[in-house]
Amino acid sequence: MHQRVAGSFRVGPVLLAGDAAHINSPLGGVGLNSGIHDAMDAARRLGRIGRGGADVEAELAAYDRVRRTVAVEYVQADTQRNTDRLRETDDAVRRQHQDDMRAIAADPERARAYIRRVSLLESVRRFGIGTPPTELELEEVG
Ligand SMILES: Cc1cc2nc3c(=O)[nH]c(=O)nc-3n(C[C@H](O)[C@H](O)[C@H](O)COP(=O)(O)OP(=O)(O)OC[C@H]3O[C@@H](n4cnc5c(N)ncnc54)[C@H](O)[C@@H]3O)c2cc1C
Repeated sequence: MHQRVAGSFRVGPVLLAGDAAHINSPLGGVGLNSGIHDAMDAARRLGRIGRGGADVEAELAAYDRVRRTVAVEYVQADTQRNTDRLRETDDAVRRQHQDDMRAIAADPERARAYIRRVSLLESVRRFGIGTPPTELELEEVG
């Protein structure tokens, strides 16, 4: 398995979405989900552009920034962690990971936060889907 994220999800008027923009380990089950979020985000922006009055450059730039941030900070980070844990051969480290998961499962607040993150709901709360550029606060992503 290998993981890749395109350097940009947008070249001029062309947008990359789904596996064309980001491929990841299937351990986490978020590749298709995040691709659908890409498509929904793009559709809302293109809808505003098509209806007229939207800032085309700002909308397309926001698509790139939001969806690439989600791919790097959520999809790639979580699926890489899952893959690394599965590959771990050191018994002590494996036991520590299992203890960590048991502690999360035993604490309803931590369990809810964990599920919100790995199901991508946290990323949707953070950025919305197709949120207008004027309502987004975005930092640089690596
Ligand atoms: C083992 C495994 C398990 C997975 N489990 C999950 C899961 O549980 N949950 C989840 O969310 N995701 C999962 N995924 C990821 C998910 O399958 C992908 O993220 C998703 O299918 C990507 O959809 P896509 O439309 O972006 O790309 P694709 O499904 O790759 O679709 C691209 C399409 O474009 C076609 N195409 C390519 N080149 C051309 C061309 N030149 N002209 C015309 N057509 C072309 C291809 O034939 C293909 O049909 C899993 C992946 C794997 C491998």
